[in-house]
Amino acid sequence: MSTGRRPLVAGNWKMHKTAAESRGFCTALAELVHATAPVDVAVCPPFTALQASARALAGTSIAVYAQNVHEAASGAHTGEISAGMLIEAGADGALVGHSERRAAGDTDAQVAARVRAGIDAGLLVVMCCGESLDTRRAGGAEEWVTRQVREGLSRVTAADVDRLVIAYEPIWAIGTGETATPDQAQEACAIVRAVAADAVDPARLRVLYGGSVNPGNAAELMACPDVDGALAGGASLDPESFAAIVAAAA
Ligand code: PEP
Repeated sequence: MSTGRRPLVAGNWKMHKTAAESRGFCTALAELVHATAPVDVAVCPPFTALQASARALAGTSIAVYAQNVHEAASGAHTGEISAGMLIEAGADGALVGHSERRAAGDTDAQVAARVRAGIDAGLLVVMCCGESLDTRRAGGAEEWVTRQVREGLSRVTAADVDRLVIAYEPIWAIGTGETATPDQAQEACAIVRAVAADAVDPARLRVLYGGSVNPGNAAELMACPDVDGALAGGASLDPESFAAIVAAAA
């Protein structure tokens, strides 16, 4: 049964690829991903490769998202980048609250402010959430993810639903090769959707799964009713492998 929600497959390059490398990747990807595929596709290059990626993908259906965005428009925030600057560089969206950012100190309050700032500037924001292995083993995964979603969406209104995506990414599955089972992914994404219902229409909200998604497991994960696509890291660094995940979503 169709959910009516268009799948999204995004590739988080983390701290990989120079601007020059991103050009080659984007040109190759654009040849592999068909513009008519019924799926939204985005790459998330490092800040320094945003502009080159956006230029290489101009005229294609593939979007470019940043990996983070600061909540302030400008000011004394050394090393940070605002939503307006990202848009100037060609970004269409931004990840917010990736677990690697949260591990570096990003708080729930900052995530909420960044979600708001990104949406206000016109970016599509992919807010990430997910529990650690210790939290899951202690039976606290639902409570953890519920808190992250509730607090991360604390400044979101119903009108924001089309500019918001949530990615459930259990930390124990990120970069480990250990993927959540489809049942685990479905259960967690359903919780995310239910919690988000306090802020936005849950039937319209896209919820992604991320954590060691690859061409071999993507189809069964994305076939889950509450999984509307994937946020892929390692497997998004190679155009063929990323295009295969896109094909699995289509
Ligand atoms: C990520 O970086 O968001 C991610 C899910 O990484 P990987 O696919 O490598 O686990």
